[in-house]
Amino acid sequence: MLMRIGGEEAESGSGAWLDVVNPATGEVLDRVPAGDRGDVGRAYAAAGAASGGWAAKGPRERGKILFHGAEAIRAEHRDLARTLTREQGKPLREAVDEVRGCANVLEFFASISGCLSGDFIRLGPAGDGIVVREPVGVCGAIIPWNMPVILMGWKAGPALLAGNTLVLKPSSTTPLTTLSIAGILERAGLPPGVLNIVTGTGESAGQAIVAHPGIGKVSFTGNTATGIAVRKAAAPLMKEVTLELGGSDPMIVWKDADLGLAVDGAIRGRFYNAGQVCNAVKRVYVHEEIAARFQEMLLDRVRSLKVGDGLDPSVEMGPLQNRAQLERVEGQVDRLRDRGEGRVLAGGGRLRDPGHARGFFYTPTLVSDPAPDAGILQEEVFGPVLPVMAVPDLDTAIAEANRSRYGLGASVWTRDLGVARAVFERSAAGVVWVNRHLTSPPELPFGGVKESGLGRENGVQAISQWTRAKSLFLGW
Ligand code: NAD
Repeated sequence: MLMRIGGEEAESGSGAWLDVVNPATGEVLDRVPAGDRGDVGRAYAAAGAASGGWAAKGPRERGKILFHGAEAIRAEHRDLARTLTREQGKPLREAVDEVRGCANVLEFFASISGCLSGDFIRLGPAGDGIVVREPVGVCGAIIPWNMPVILMGWKAGPALLAGNTLVLKPSSTTPLTTLSIAGILERAGLPPGVLNIVTGTGESAGQAIVAHPGIGKVSFTGNTATGIAVRKAAAPLMKEVTLELGGSDPMIVWKDADLGLAVDGAIRGRFYNAGQVCNAVKRVYVHEEIAARFQEMLLDRVRSLKVGDGLDPSVEMGPLQNRAQLERVEGQVDRLRDRGEGRVLAGGGRLRDPGHARGFFYTPTLVSDPAPDAGILQEEVFGPVLPVMAVPDLDTAIAEANRSRYGLGASVWTRDLGVARAVFERSAAGVVWVNRHLTSPPELPFGGVKESGLGRENGVQAISQWTRAKSLFLGW
């Protein structure tokens, strides 16, 4: 597939291409241009040319176009989901969820077009003040390979509603569905140049977006080390950045929890998308009175999860998205075993059956009581590996849950409102769930504290991240 610049398909000036590989089979699916600085420059020019007209449309008109875009995505969700499964690996039903989720996000932002309001402030006898929120102009968006479609929605929805135009770079390993969606949005009425997709690597196209002096803001989702590099590169240009980075979310299962619900929550929370979700359940702290029963129930479920090609409707977990990620997760579990940092109760290796030998499959893995300083608790594990620890009391559970460089989400599973409230108030996290994990509706602001990032996406609040306040003093 080709890039989309100014409403048209475009090759890269570099003349180079990148293969897109199906992670379930190891086969090359397609190829995309290896975009470079020159391509980012062309996309910036197209976004700049579209900028004035798009901003002038006004929020309601822009919202209508997003509504049409959402409907058009929904109408084509089956084909889009198949493309997503083939390039990303997730089971088809998760791909359908993600594509529909993107339509929902665009619809949510379309529905709040009336919220792009400013302020009127009475300043006393000297005059009055008016504050308007202006679009930033041409913005950049950089997204990872785990949830490319929903994250495209999280960025394009508020950015475009607010009147900005975008240069968006998908991950080099999952560009196809993003490109298809950009085409669908244009056919649904998005003017050419409002949303430009530059494919390519982070070192080339990604760095060029961050370094481009005309791009006023960059919203980045990816790992923490890359986020720090993006923030440093943006600093001398005074470029605003939103950083949605890694996570190591704790799940606290209290002694009065509905155990069936909590086990379902842990399975979905950890093994959805083969564990490659920023706000996945990455550590479970369970009250010692119910720990043995909980672990036994969990073990049964982990052992029975069906792993395979996401296009097979009976499959519950697909491969990891790319070979480097498979090797990273494999290394983390191997180190745990080598150092004697915990007991692997299930999984703990690649899927060995010959039918899946060429895909990037790792088996669903359960680890019991790793040492508090074990690597898999300190680092982000972006794969299907779940550590479970027994805790004696709530203070210990909360203290251990907070003992992380990350602070994206946290959940507590209980029927006791006092326990729920204590976890909510004392968690160092951007999002806390009670008897849920993972669910991130577009109505709720999303983002982290500590090394999980800066700024928030979603919610009405997202609009403020994509606009700048401008004040007018009226001296009567
Ligand atoms: P990554 O940081 O390697 O890549 C993310 C994107 O940045 C890709 O498009 C990549 O090409 C680009 N990139 C790489 N180097 C760059 C540079 N120097 N300058 C500009 N762009 C560059 O991340 P990944 O491995 O693709 O994604 C997994 C990570 O993303 C995990 O840590 C996960 O927790 C995180 N994530 C966070 C959220 C969130 O909302 N907090 C959501 C999803 C994923």
